[in-house]
Amino acid sequence: MNIAFALVANATAVLSLTGILLAHRDEAARALDRLATFDDLTGVLNRRAWLVQSNVELANSVRYDKPLAVLMLDLDYFKQINDSRGHEAGDRALKFVARALKAAVRTGDIVGRYGGEEFCVLLNHADRAAAKAFDQRMRAYLADATARELGHALNYSAGITVRISADDTLEAMLRRADVMLYSAKAQGRSRTLDAQELRLGQDAAG
Ligand code: GH3
Ligand code: MG
Ligand code: MG
Repeated sequence: MNIAFALVANATAVLSLTGILLAHRDEAARALDRLATFDDLTGVLNRRAWLVQSNVELANSVRYDKPLAVLMLDLDYFKQINDSRGHEAGDRALKFVARALKAAVRTGDIVGRYGGEEFCVLLNHADRAAAKAFDQRMRAYLADATARELGHALNYSAGITVRISADDTLEAMLRRADVMLYSAKAQGRSRTLDAQELRLGQDAAG
């Protein structure tokens, strides 16, 4: 009798544990999915998820023959902010930029944290003029809001590029944007350079 009772008690324990595990399985899967998709600090897409989603939009832009632009930005002298104001101030600045980017984009655009203090934005249906307008909106907002919200200035350098052909790839676009970003840094920072202005991609550097 005692053995039978112990067996039933054990089975009940196992069954309820299984029930609890099953109930939490979906939630755990969702949490894992979130971790694999979004950047922990800023809440925007991480690099991998940004690339996946951007590739879908690039394919759509070819299929429907719509323009599409990529902007890659890197915060200027960001190490100084960490060094002089502390790592928390750096984190706050990163969250602020992510929020500002998300607020400035349109539905269908894709914001990602590409690495440390570097962000990428895919601008859907955007030609060069639209990409530049986005960049100017961001700069105007930062100029207006950083002192108020962060207590210090914050600038960025960036490269923009548009899709130049049906067989253009995200990798090639990112390469062009990165070359422009690098030049923007070299030219003194706090500026955005446009790959098409230098015919980058159409000629040798594509
Ligand atoms: P530049 O104008 O040439 O881009 O200079 P920089 O100081 O922005 O660039 P650098 O690459 O020297 O430094 C980037 C810094 O970004 C160093 C790194 O500690 C900091 N950083 C990267 N990720 C994070 C983060 O998640 N939080 C904080 N607070 N800092 C970060
Ligand atoms: Mg930087
Ligand atoms: Mg950097």
